[in-house]
Parts: sequence; structure tokens; C-alpha cells
Amino acid sequence: MRALKSGNLGYPRIGANREWKRALEAFWSDKIGENELHGRLTDIRLEHLRKQRDKGIDYIPVGDFSYYDHVLDTAAMFGIVPSRFAYEGGPVPLRTYFAMARGDQGAAACEMTKWFNTNYHYIVPELKDAKPALTDNRPLRAYREAKERLGIEGRPVIVGLYTFLKLSKGYEPSELDAWVERLLPLYRQVLAELEQEGVRWVQIDEPILVTDVTEADMRRVRAIYEALKASAPKLNLLLQTYFEAVARYEDVVSLPVDGIGLDFVQGREGNLEALERFGFPAGKTLAAGIVDGRNIWASDPDEKISLVERLAGYVSPDRLILQPSCSLLHVPVTTAGETALDPVLLGGLAFADEKLDEVVLVAKAAGGHRASVAQALEAKRAAVQALRASPERCRPAVREAVARLEGRRSARASAFAVRRAAQQARWRLPLLPTTTIGSFPQTPEVRQARQKWRKGEWDDSRYTAFIREQIRTWIDLQEQIGLDVLVHGEFERTDMVEFFGEKLAGFAFTQNGWVQSYGSRCVKPPVLYGDVQFGGPMTVAETVYAQSLTSRPVKGMLTGPVTILNWSFVRDDIPREQVAYQIALALREEVLALEAAGIGMIQVDEPALREGLPLRAADRPDYLRWAVESFRAATSAVRDETQIHTHMCYCEFHDMIDAIRELDADVISIETSRSHGELIGAFEEHTYDLGIGLGVYDIHSPRVPSVEEMAGMIDRALRVLDPTLFWINPDCGLKTRKPEETIAALRHMVQAAQEARARY
Ligand code: GLN
Ligand code: ZN
Repeated sequence: MRALKSGNLGYPRIGANREWKRALEAFWSDKIGENELHGRLTDIRLEHLRKQRDKGIDYIPVGDFSYYDHVLDTAAMFGIVPSRFAYEGGPVPLRTYFAMARGDQGAAACEMTKWFNTNYHYIVPELKDAKPALTDNRPLRAYREAKERLGIEGRPVIVGLYTFLKLSKGYEPSELDAWVERLLPLYRQVLAELEQEGVRWVQIDEPILVTDVTEADMRRVRAIYEALKASAPKLNLLLQTYFEAVARYEDVVSLPVDGIGLDFVQGREGNLEALERFGFPAGKTLAAGIVDGRNIWASDPDEKISLVERLAGYVSPDRLILQPSCSLLHVPVTTAGETALDPVLLGGLAFADEKLDEVVLVAKAAGGHRASVAQALEAKRAAVQALRASPERCRPAVREAVARLEGRRSARASAFAVRRAAQQARWRLPLLPTTTIGSFPQTPEVRQARQKWRKGEWDDSRYTAFIREQIRTWIDLQEQIGLDVLVHGEFERTDMVEFFGEKLAGFAFTQNGWVQSYGSRCVKPPVLYGDVQFGGPMTVAETVYAQSLTSRPVKGMLTGPVTILNWSFVRDDIPREQVAYQIALALREEVLALEAAGIGMIQVDEPALREGLPLRAADRPDYLRWAVESFRAATSAVRDETQIHTHMCYCEFHDMIDAIRELDADVISIETSRSHGELIGAFEEHTYDLGIGLGVYDIHSPRVPSVEEMAGMIDRALRVLDPTLFWINPDCGLKTRKPEETIAALRHMVQAAQEARARY
């Protein structure tokens, strides 16, 4: 086979040491001006291009770099700015751009939501009242910059028209065609200008095509691409998909474009099956995503080479481009700075830079240059093998326990009605009991104490004493406020997943494995690399201490298996279902340890349950089956009189209410405020007959809502829910709030509950 070409879809913006984040935040806090910001970000952008060129990537993306988010960039280039930002046409000023993302004095920020099934969040374009016009041909600008400054012939990237519209809001479904008509001339202009400039390939991202697109959608997409092709006949259009197999393979590959980008990692099965069944159109280029752009594991070179050989059975080598499966935005920059990891684990990791090396390596090896890369291949092979063979990867006791669980349905000993009676006899809670979601304010004092302890300035006993003092303060406060069910406050935790990851076997933590979550906010997910095993109680000491201070019940507080899974980088050598069960079994030990220590209410948070939902409806029941089972495995071994709580954030639960019911938690608390009553509406259509608390106030704002406001929320919820099953609580944990705000709001909440008791 002849040498194969390599490409990339997008490079992380944040910089190896998060320089990007620091530059943005310096600008936002007025420490640097606009020129300085542009200068610093230009340096970062050019550095990334140079790096990709030096690695030997043939098709280097340009225009993927952003000052905040690529969907916001697309809205801005088309002048789609909500009227509240007083925009008057022309290039969108930087001030306005950031105001849309973050809000400013005069106007609330645009909504932000998850980019498909990733943990990246984009800014939702608002089309209402927008008068789109091409204000700035960003892809062209990026192309020129790369060419002029570095002599790089880049491949401009743009969010495709249909994906852009489907991710936007502020229009009725019946207006979709009109919006296509409005945007199409602008996209045509962008492409025509690129063609005129002599650009060879443009990457048009249409990940929407991996979701359940209808025939009508497909007809529109076809019409769009016919028009686009006609306006730039000499420009090669690469229609790029990722995150799953395309839903309508035959339709997609026959679109009037020059290349099709398919994901052979997340969408491996579906895309391969379709390719083998329907073939690939002669004359088109296949951009094959072969290296996982979403996860951090090194590729097995032999597996990748054989995948490419399979693909080459359908596409001639000169029409095959090898790529990561999606933009590398979703992985950290490089493993180069990781000095503290076990060498075997480190060898088995590949972040963005290492992934690009893998793409180039496989392109050479599969393209007939195997001898020249023999050494690199052997090193990769050995590294992947070493991690596979490491004892932490397979703990027989864990495997046996999971095997016993499989195919079974974990269940509480008694039905809810029986448990409820036992719990009520034990606690004698009033009607409409009040509680909170778990965390209390993480004040600068709390964070500084943890820093001192981590640095060794404070020894364990000093730190423990400090945490106990916080717990005592807040137990007293909760009693004074008059809450019925108390919590210890989670002062010992930075993050609800990291805290458990640090205590369970099977997790590792990087020094610099940051990825962008939204805007300048980055997260550093734990690395779940081995079999997960319980090593001893994780939360018992703090919870028991808190309970010793009060005669009211204190809820134990754990993070659930699905949330731990969804917020980590998870090993990909065994199914996610298995990993979820491993975590569940470890948590079950913790649940039982809390129960044995006299804790009678235990909350297992699953805020990320919904996030893991597969993109395609057909795949959802299976996910929900094992997600629900892992929650049940973790929580069902307790006695009837032990009350299991759970908590979820975010609205949009309509499609999941049945699964939530199946969790069989005695009490669930759900965030409500941001759904503007939609969630309450969902309970009109579905009966919910377990304990439930719909958050009565929004914890995301420092504003202290009045008693009347919360009473209104309570009354609204009680129009559809049974008062004898209803709990009163805030929307979510209070760790980001100030103590004064928290105390004032909770006082109002308790008063609203007391008044409501008289009414029901
Ligand atoms: N128990 C956690 C807390 O209160 C829940 C956080 C969450 O739902 N994201 O902080
Ligand atoms: Zn929450």
C-alpha cells in the first residue's frame, strides 16, 4: 500500500499549561488589555499549528481555535447576537462576544449546554430576531494566518449548517426550512471565498448526522450540500461526523461532497458494518477516525493497522485519510509533563500530542513503511501490553463479585410501602420534611486548610480537627435553622468524584490532565485504569462524628457509580457496564459500613446519570438498564428502616422518569428551578409514587429568595405530587454559596415548609 495521509479535526485550545485559560481570565479581570490578549492567544494558536506540522500531520485544522467556544464563534461570524446585547451589525466586538458567553451588567448570558454526549459545553445560539449576515469569514482568516505566518496549507473547519441550526434555539420546528434558506447564502459565501483563495479542503462538521435524523432531515441536508457544492465546485468538501456511527449511512455517503469523515472508534461497529454492506462510493475520500479522540488510552498499533487494512478493502489508499475519531478538544494536551504516574500506566496513556503521533505512525505502518517505524511500533506495542498485563487491571476477587451480579436484578428486601412504614416509625419526620443536598459553603478558609494539609504544612490531626470544627458549626446551624434531616457538609471533599477516586483502588490522578469543560473552566477527570476495589471506609468517620452531635438524622453522602464513571476517563478494555458494577460493589461496602455505624439515611448522588445517555434512542434502554442496576447494586443491601436518598441535577428528565422510578430510592431530590416548571409538568403525565423533593430554590445565584417565592414552588409541585411523599430542599449542593446567603435562604425555606404544613 502507498503512504497514507494523516489529518486532525481539532486541537485542544487550553495549552500545555493552560496558558489559554490564564490569558482569558487575565483579560476578564482587566489585568491585560485586548492587544495583549490577542497577542498571547495568537502565540498559542501558532504554536499549536507548528506542533501539528512538526508531527507530520498532512491535513492540519485551522479555525478550530476559539476565544471561548466554536459554536459561539459560528454564531458570531454570522452576526447572530440576541437583541439584549445591543448589537448593531458588523463584526461582533470582543466585548459582545464575551458578554454572550458570560453575561454582563445589562444582559444575561446565553444558555450553555452539553456538546452531544461529551462533557464540553457550548453556547446555545439564539435565532429569535436575529438578522444573520456574514460578518467575518473566520475560516478564511485562519487559513490565511497559517499560510502567511507558517507556510501551512491548513484545512479550515466550520460547524455545518444543519448541526448549527439543530443546536440553536429560538425558532419553531416549522421555521426550520426558513432558517436553512436564511443561512445557506452565508455558508455559500464562506465556501466561495475559500475556493477563491485556493483552499483545497474544508472540514464541515456535521455531528448531528450521528443522531436519529429523520428522512425529512436527510432531504434538507442533501439540498444544503447540493447548494454548497454548487457555490464552490473546485473546493473539496469534507463532511465530518463523529461520536457515533452515522444514522443513515447510504444517504450520508452519497451526499454531493468530496470526502466523508466517519468515526471508527465510537462508531466502529455501525460504520464498519455499513461500509462492508454498502461499500464506499468510488471517487470519494474517506477520512477515517481510527484513534480515540475522546479517551486517553494509547492505541494498540496492530489493532489499528488491521482496521486500516479492512478499510482499504473499500477505498483506494490515495483516498484514505487517517485521523483521530473527533476533535482532540476532549483530551488533555500531552503526557509529557506527567512525572508522578506509575510508568506502566503512563506508557499506556496518549493525550492529544501522543494521539497525533499514533495517527502518523499507523499511516506510515499501514502505508507500506512498516520497516521505517518498526522501533516505534514495537515500543507502542510493548507499552500497551504492559498496561494490559498489570495486576491492577484484573483483580480476580472483583471479577468474581461482578460475575455474580450479572444477569441478576438487585432489590431491596421489601417493597417501598413496607420500607416507608419502617422508616417513618424510626424517624417520625413531620409532613414535608426539610433537608439539603449535601455540601455547605467551601469558604476560602476551608480551601486554604486543605492546601496546607496537602502541602504538609498541617498534619493529619490538625486538618481533621479543622474539618470537625466545620462540621460542628454547621450541625449547630442546621439545628438552629430548624432543618429536619441534616448533613455533615462535605468540607473534606474538593470534588465529588475525585474524593472517592482517591480512596478506591483502580484510579489514578494526573498532574496536568486538564480538558476544557466550558469557557475557561477546565476539569481534570480521574483516570479509571484498573479494577475498582473498596479499600476501607471513606466517609464513615465524618458522618458518624456529625451524627454524634445531634439527635436529628444525619444523611450519609456518597457519589453514585454512574456519576463516578461518567466523570472519569474510563478504561476501554472492558465494557462500561462492568466498570459501573465494580464501582457499585465498592460503594455497596461503604453503604453497609455507614449503616453498621448507625447512619440511617444514605444519599447516593447520581447527577450525571442523564449525561451518559447514548446519542441514539435505540441504545438508551440498554444504558439505562445497567445504570439503574448499578445504582441498585450499590444501595439495595440495606435494611428496610435505612432510607436511601438520591439526587440529580439538571432538568429534562421527561424521557427518564421511568428509569428514575426503577432506581427504587426511598427519596429523590431533583433540581427544578432552571427547568421553569417543565419538570413539574412531567409529573402530570407520569405518576411518581416514591419520596421526592423538587428543589424549591436555585442555588446558582447569590440571591436569597423570599418565603413567598418558595411557597409558590411548593404549591406548584403539590398540585401534581402527593404531599405525604414530598420533601423540601434546595436545588443542589450549597458549596459555591457564601455562608450568609446559605443561612438566610435555608431559614426562608424552613419557614415556607412550616407554613405549607398548615395548608396540606
Ligand atoms: N452532594 C453533592 C453536593 O451537595 C451533590 C452535588 C451535585 O449534585 N452535583 O455538593
Ligand atoms: Zn445537584
